[in-house]
Amino acid sequence: MNLENVPEEESLDPADWQLMRGLGHRMIDDIMTYLETVRTRPVWQPIPEKIKAYFKQPLPVEPQGTEQAYQDFLDYVLPHPMGNIHPRFWGWVIGTGTPLGMLAEMLAAGMNPNVGGADHVANYVEAQVLDWCKEMLGYPAESSGLLVSGGSMANLVGLTVARNSKAEFDLRTHGVHAAPRKMTLYGSQETHSSVQKAIELLGLGSNAFRQIPVNSDFKIDISGLETAILEDRQEGYQPICIIGNAGTVNTGAIDDLDRLADICQREGLWFHVDGAFGALAVLSSELRPLLVGMERADSLAFDLHKWMYMPYEVGCALVRQEEDHRRTFSLTPDYLTHSDRGLAGGSIWFSDYGVQLSRGFRALKVWMSMKEHGAQKYGRLIQQNVDQARYLASQVDDMSELQLLAPVPLNIVCFRFVADNLDDESLNDLNKELLIDLHESGVAAPSYTVIDGKYALRVAITNHRSKREDFEVLVREVIRLGRKLLHSG
Ligand SMILES: *Cc1c(COP(=O)(O)O)cnc(C)c1O
Repeated sequence: MNLENVPEEESLDPADWQLMRGLGHRMIDDIMTYLETVRTRPVWQPIPEKIKAYFKQPLPVEPQGTEQAYQDFLDYVLPHPMGNIHPRFWGWVIGTGTPLGMLAEMLAAGMNPNVGGADHVANYVEAQVLDWCKEMLGYPAESSGLLVSGGSMANLVGLTVARNSKAEFDLRTHGVHAAPRKMTLYGSQETHSSVQKAIELLGLGSNAFRQIPVNSDFKIDISGLETAILEDRQEGYQPICIIGNAGTVNTGAIDDLDRLADICQREGLWFHVDGAFGALAVLSSELRPLLVGMERADSLAFDLHKWMYMPYEVGCALVRQEEDHRRTFSLTPDYLTHSDRGLAGGSIWFSDYGVQLSRGFRALKVWMSMKEHGAQKYGRLIQQNVDQARYLASQVDDMSELQLLAPVPLNIVCFRFVADNLDDESLNDLNKELLIDLHESGVAAPSYTVIDGKYALRVAITNHRSKREDFEVLVREVIRLGRKLLHSG
């Protein structure tokens, strides 16, 4: 072979490592300053049209270079955030992230392992993180688990194991068509949409999800649930699963999980708990009693990027019986056969426990953050957020122009601006407008929901940066904007 005319081979590594190193240092400096000064900026601002237009530029075919790529990030990306790292962001249920979590993401990407299987250390890190999660949540040590993208995927994993384990036939081979009886699942009307999505994806159809009414505390109505199960049995359905809520997205309600576990036991049903954020309240000794029964779940879904403040994405699915979990997902063709020794050895193959084959090293940010702060600190922060919610609720109660719209069992406060002469419909319009004005002011970012037909400003606190005075600012601003809207008609 003539090697003389062969072009030099390329790679994506820098030609000059020293330059790249310098750029890296600058990036760290810039982003640390950005985090340190987040409080001084507006929570959110609308993205200017010219910035949106910038993202219509065609595919770069020729290199623009590292400096240009970073400059464009500084000019067009960094200044227009969602706002969720800000101390006055309380929209939906969205986490804040941390500086060390961010750095850990960088380190994980540097190592860049594929955590689907094989014998390398990232699998052991993830296994330890799962062990720590079990310990934190009081879940059996011998249960199995998987880190996933978030609560939605954790619900899908848990409910897939539920479906396959409760099916009266080999569902993996024959599919849901082969079901001799239609399978049904039960949860309250306040259950998160991701549960319905999972049930749809499982081919069961959203009609199979029996959404049971709630009581005045927004918890599942137990007698309504029992009646629904009984009626379904009489009509020839096969009830398979109850989904318990540990913290509903609207109001933070926690179902009576111990009663639900009893019913599951008595009826031979799978008990799945969606504890996306609320499950972590067990870390506070004051809140822990609210979650009694959660540890009895057959599968448990929760997020680490919400109330554990980890950077996106990371959630977790735990399954009581490892065998059920593996039987649902394990599929090992020749090219994935596990060995006894060598790189393809090792006993931990996470691809046997979920949808993904290739998986990122999302465990590292959890592992490092848990070491950095310890579980107790997280418990204190969670309690702090709940105390802040109670403080906000008491402020709302004190103001004649504000009205609380739901109980505050956890970290979510639903309220609205009110005026004597306005009916519900006008108040809905006014509060909708008020929320948009509030967002555009950059002062605070709650979200919204509808409670008994009333449009509510909804403050969900999974934010380690919020302080008491931030809620005073919110109350002041809501009243100011509400009065302004009222006077402008
Ligand atoms: C956020 C949330 C989910 C979905 O979790 P993602 O991490 O957004 O996928 C499910 N259930 C509840 C109660 C939630 O708050």
